[in-house]
Amino acid sequence: MAKKSNNLAVKKAPMRGVNNKGTVLIIGAGGVGSVTAHKCAMNTKVFTKIHLASRSIEKPNAIKKSIKKRFGVTIQTHVVDADKVKQVVALIKKVKPEVVINVALPYQDLVIMEACLQTKVHYIDTANYEPKDKAHFEYKQQWALDKKFKKAGVMAVLGAGFDPGVSNAYCAYALKKYFDTVRFVDIVDANAGAHEKAFATNFNPEINIREVTQVVRHFEKGKWIETPPIMNAGSVHFSFDYPVAGPKESYLLFHEEMESLAKNLPGLERLRFWMTFGENYLNHLRVMRNIGIDSIKPIDFQGKKIVPMEFLKALLPDPASLATNYSGKTVIGCIVTGIKDGQESTKFIYNICDHAKTFKEVGSQAVSYTAGVPPMVAAMMLMSGKWNGAGVYNVEQLDPEPFLESLSRNGLPYEVIDRQPLPDTV
Ligand code: NDP
Repeated sequence: MAKKSNNLAVKKAPMRGVNNKGTVLIIGAGGVGSVTAHKCAMNTKVFTKIHLASRSIEKPNAIKKSIKKRFGVTIQTHVVDADKVKQVVALIKKVKPEVVINVALPYQDLVIMEACLQTKVHYIDTANYEPKDKAHFEYKQQWALDKKFKKAGVMAVLGAGFDPGVSNAYCAYALKKYFDTVRFVDIVDANAGAHEKAFATNFNPEINIREVTQVVRHFEKGKWIETPPIMNAGSVHFSFDYPVAGPKESYLLFHEEMESLAKNLPGLERLRFWMTFGENYLNHLRVMRNIGIDSIKPIDFQGKKIVPMEFLKALLPDPASLATNYSGKTVIGCIVTGIKDGQESTKFIYNICDHAKTFKEVGSQAVSYTAGVPPMVAAMMLMSGKWNGAGVYNVEQLDPEPFLESLSRNGLPYEVIDRQPLPDTV
């Protein structure tokens, strides 16, 4: 059984960003970056200057226009190639942010972290590092920068989206508020929405398809157990009855917060992640896999090298474009079983987010919204000193209460209910 971890305490250390107070630099102007920028613009008392940069100027400028129209706030836009440390360093030196929010792609994490180290600026991201040529994500290389961040006196918060991110905070909150020890965690993620496309992913198609087609792992009694990918025979799934959304087929999936939670909730007996997929979606994945169009190995095509997955990404709908007629809701939460004063109980902590409401508020669908609001709130935590430390952190290592309170005020409230634990096997 898990004892309360010292890791969950906030390590105190001086903050040292060489920066302009209230200035934020957001890198990445896709579906998620758009939400983060809009939400910063809704909080100009905290974010007095907002800079948004991406590989080309069109998307940042379109977001700038939308923010001006909706909120009357002017943001600054920039071009940066975040695969190049020099360019990111130059941009940071130019705009002097207190914090950099990386909502570009996982491929850029290490470069942007290095730039933050060189300029001594706080760093936040929402997805862990992944090399472009290998569909495999893990925290190893980002965690390895802990000493450097400590030495620089700045903080890196990893995986501060919804899942990872808020899901980690829900676990930390359950441990802080309801339990002495935590035994089982099941994270459940439903997108009960409809977007009128035959097939589309809700965030970057390349990253999304790489993630969901991997061999599945879950954590049990100190070991990682492998099961087949979601679209293969033998995949593990069951119908979970989500609040508001109702029963939905939910598939066991390896998700990145599992790596840090298994480490930071010591003694945790079992950790599983479940996500809803429809049969139509799975069929598309099967066809893509069968014909090899999701391959990340370059092929020769008419005298050129092309990566089939990159070509596929170019064909699929831009996730931001789904927002217009998206209906329905997302439901994401953690079912946590723990013990308090010798009594075992189970809490379900979750958020419900409505695609149409988020579209009205910031022009985005709920998957972008649930991923884009938390890094803005994480930046508030850093800038206000509520999260205060130097080094590399995952969200469950930081105080969940001010984070969850601020999320509630900024569009992502949470509910806590008692319920039965999920069965051991489904
Ligand atoms: P998009 O593809 O919509 O947006 C990515 C943005 O980054 C685009 O503006 C893109 O520019 C830009 N970009 C890509 N490469 C570079 C580069 N080298 N230099 C500068 N800018 C670059 O992705 P999403 O908005 O859907 O996702 C953003 C991130 O959020 C991803 O890492 C994703 O994994 C993460 N995410 C996290 C979630 C969570 O809950 N934790 C949930 C959903 C997503 P261009 O358009 O020109 O290519």
